[in-house]
Amino acid sequence: MKKKIKKLLVGTNNKGKLREIRNLIPKNIQIFSSSDFNLKSPKENGKTFTQNSIIKSKYFSKKTNLICLADDSGLEIDILNKRPGIYSARWAGKNKDFKIAINKVFRELTARDKDWKKKLIKARFICALSISYLNKNLVSVIGKVEGKISNKAKGKNGFGYDPIFIPNNENQTFGQMSFLKKYKIDHRFNAFKKIKKFL
Ligand code: IMP
Repeated sequence: MKKKIKKLLVGTNNKGKLREIRNLIPKNIQIFSSSDFNLKSPKENGKTFTQNSIIKSKYFSKKTNLICLADDSGLEIDILNKRPGIYSARWAGKNKDFKIAINKVFRELTARDKDWKKKLIKARFICALSISYLNKNLVSVIGKVEGKISNKAKGKNGFGYDPIFIPNNENQTFGQMSFLKKYKIDHRFNAFKKIKKFL
């Protein structure tokens, strides 16, 4: 893949992700987002984060004729057999209400172990990033951030599952952290470190 992309489409309609990704992309690249083109996201019928990020990046690239970077991300909780995983967005329902998703996490944890609040509930955020041009996937990488589930939702910053995730070596949830602190330690940042040589 040739370096020095001048224009890049970021294939996401999620404002939280777009804000983080915009901050990570070199400033000399002109960024477009799928919402600039009024494009809805495609059906994510892959079996892995990587497959879904490739589906999205190819789809948006074909729709716009631009090189596209797309992410697929989510939360894995070890004692829930790594769920919600690739279903992280779907747990929030049609209206993308993350109070519903977070309550579902708490309900599932209680069903698994009623004393879970006293225990270390290991979890991680995963981010797959893919760059594609039309029907060709150019590169895919994975980034992670390890941590645990908080015994209650805390903080109003961020998005999605941020209020219940405490990264290792920190005592605040992502929801309590400032944007500037979170985006430099999270799964997208770790994936970006691996993909930035292609930008
Ligand atoms: P998708 O990648 O758009 O299919 O959805 C991933 C889901 O995981 C989103 O609905 C997010 O809310 C959640 N997620 C991904 N990254 C983060 C994050 O950094 N913080 C909180 N939730 C996240």
